[in-house]
Amino acid sequence: MARVLLLGGTGEARALAGRLAGRPGLAVTLSLAGRTLAPAPQPVPVRVGGFGGAEGLADYLQAEAIAAVIDATHPYAARISANAAIACARAGVPLLALRRAPWQKVPGDRWRAVADVAAAVTALGDAPRRVFLALGRNEVRAFAAAPQHAYLVRSVDPVDPPLAVPDAQYVLGRGPFTEQGDRALLVAHRIDAIVAKNSGGAATYGKIAAARALGIAVLLIARPQGPDVPAVDDVAAAEAWLMARLAHRAAPAARGA
Ligand code: NAP
Repeated sequence: MARVLLLGGTGEARALAGRLAGRPGLAVTLSLAGRTLAPAPQPVPVRVGGFGGAEGLADYLQAEAIAAVIDATHPYAARISANAAIACARAGVPLLALRRAPWQKVPGDRWRAVADVAAAVTALGDAPRRVFLALGRNEVRAFAAAPQHAYLVRSVDPVDPPLAVPDAQYVLGRGPFTEQGDRALLVAHRIDAIVAKNSGGAATYGKIAAARALGIAVLLIARPQGPDVPAVDDVAAAEAWLMARLAHRAAPAARGA
């Protein structure tokens, strides 16, 4: 039985788990940070919570005799990806990163790159704007420093306590989101700026396409640099990598038999 650790929290991790579930000779555990209150159901067994840094993850890999790790965390989840690279190198476990390719700017996009959330707050400027925040519920807290703007915040779980600003509205939602739905939302709230991550993939592209159609400015937070490990950008390629690694691992024993 080959034990595989899948670092998740994304639709891609769930899709890959679905492809791997029930395969003979494979025991996949999907790991979640535990950020969302009611995580989506998963097709394989799930463990929840941090490992205790790179050292804790390396210990886990050894204790659980993990044969391979796939880091399918969100492209902006920089710390767990860095930890996975260190831990796998230390424990001698093969690691693959499954990272969505970033969206590419196309004609009509009014994108402005900003280094991080704090830079996005500054880039909104002094004049009041109507801003859609498509960020994690903890990241939106930084916008309390710019109370002159009106905010529309979309998050999976409620922002609690609410933002300490005079004008903020909240919409709960878990992707995928459609262009049509996001366009209606942007129009209804008279949004004139969006702050978002360049997450890549289709599930959250609706707001980007809608912003283009409506001529709305998008402040895109720069992607963190991922660790220098083998990487693919789609689920099928990750599955193929895993099967090849496990076949390679089984080969010496088979030859010796
Ligand atoms: P992060 O800053 O890279 O990680 C912070 C700490 O959370 C890690 O050091 C680790 O704790 C723990 N952790 C993160 N992902 C984990 C996982 N899959 N399994 C077990 N522990 C994990 O991560 P983040 O940006 O807070 O993201 C947390 C989770 O939300 C990830 O699973 C990610 O895929 C998902 N997510 C993130 C974003 C985003 O924009 N960042 C968006 C959508 C989904 P220890 O050091 O104690 O091991």
